[in-house]
Amino acid sequence: MNVVFIAPPAAGKGTQATLLRDNYNFYHISTGDVLREIAETNTPLGCEIKALIDNGKLVSDELMAKLLKEKIGSLGKVEGIIFDGFPRTLEQAHMLDEILNEVGMKVNKVIYFDIDKDTAMKRALGRVTCKDCGEIYNTYFDTFLKEDECSKCGGKLEKRMDDTEEKFSNRFDTYLEKTKPLIDYYTNLNLLETVNCSDSKDNIFNKIKFIIEK
Ligand code: AMP
Repeated sequence: MNVVFIAPPAAGKGTQATLLRDNYNFYHISTGDVLREIAETNTPLGCEIKALIDNGKLVSDELMAKLLKEKIGSLGKVEGIIFDGFPRTLEQAHMLDEILNEVGMKVNKVIYFDIDKDTAMKRALGRVTCKDCGEIYNTYFDTFLKEDECSKCGGKLEKRMDDTEEKFSNRFDTYLEKTKPLIDYYTNLNLLETVNCSDSKDNIFNKIKFIIEK
């Protein structure tokens, strides 16, 4: 089964994708992670991507399709794929249909993470990620955290460079303009399921499990 996550920034899609991956053996593709890895390389492409991420702008549809095609082409047999962060434009939604079609697959479910801007902003400002294992925490809610230390593996916790108030606002505006129209697109295809995300991580995951299993 292939599942697409549509969400405003910092709605918790990365956290839920990890839970889904671990519980159902799905392969997790986070286009944000793929791009952040390239952005860390000191290449012209890396610098170009870093500037776009930093300004809350989207990387071009063409480059995204190329990266996604390479990623899917490199996978062996998998139970399913979670698309965390792709598509983010209508053009990308069409590209995804084509790319999957070429390998005999399709989008089976689309989960829309419904959350208001203020709640998402709070999640962005408190979000920290383990540099070693990728576990995501929130300094407002995960009060058990020792400063800068992952409680799973002891790795160093870092803030994302685009999780500041101003950058979050830019990303949210980009989401409203470019990504939100996908809700209509997938509703018309009868694939969209909405999950209210102003809830705890475990409750949100239970709702997602219910959708996956029905
Ligand atoms: P995320 O980790 O999903 O919040 O993505 C972080 C940033 O990576 C976004 O704000 C965009 O700048 C870029 N990005 C991620 N996925 C895409 C995509 N599908 N298309 C264009 N840009 C993307």
